[in-house]
Amino acid sequence: MEDKEILLKAFEFHGHICWASAIGVRAGLTALRKLGVRRTGSSGELHCIVEIGENHGAQCFIDGVQYTTGCTLGKGNISKSGWGKLAITLIDKKKERAVRVSYKPGRHKMVAESSFMKKRGMGIPPTQIAPEEAWEMVNMLWDAPESEVLTVGDIISYDWGDDFGEIMGLKACDSCGEMVSKVYLRVVGDKSMCIPCSGYGR
Ligand SMILES: [Zn+2]
Ligand SMILES: [Zn+2]
Repeated sequence: MEDKEILLKAFEFHGHICWASAIGVRAGLTALRKLGVRRTGSSGELHCIVEIGENHGAQCFIDGVQYTTGCTLGKGNISKSGWGKLAITLIDKKKERAVRVSYKPGRHKMVAESSFMKKRGMGIPPTQIAPEEAWEMVNMLWDAPESEVLTVGDIISYDWGDDFGEIMGLKACDSCGEMVSKVYLRVVGDKSMCIPCSGYGR
């Protein structure tokens, strides 16, 4: 797949066109190429640590990373360090090596001063801004030479250790009847219940 096609699909997944998810796609593609690996379809190959935090602008970055690398919340092969940075460390679990890729401020002044970001600053949601204005901003980063927008670290060895594997199986809660992963069932008298029904804390 062409990089541009990946970008378009990532926007479709993300729900709107924005610079942060676009640079997430670029960071993800760069990390995959540097490690010489492909987007993963399972949880056993790659793990990604994203440095984004909570409740701040630019969290969109993580969706570009998820779509591109295949490291997703659903597979459980992505985690957040919560430092509020636009950076990832992509780990090849099998070869136990990793690379860190981070967003460089090179063109950020241009992005921040774009008409899209001015409108965002006025509280207009991204879905209500014309796509042309969004693309103008995205292209500032997408068309830039890599060295202006990303810092790519050297490959480092990364001790992953063993995975515990997935625990399979679902069972219905004896109280509400909803399906629960077996490891999340709690014993109450002679019944096994989901956590909310059991009244126990996690
Ligand atoms: Zn976004
Ligand atoms: Zn229940």
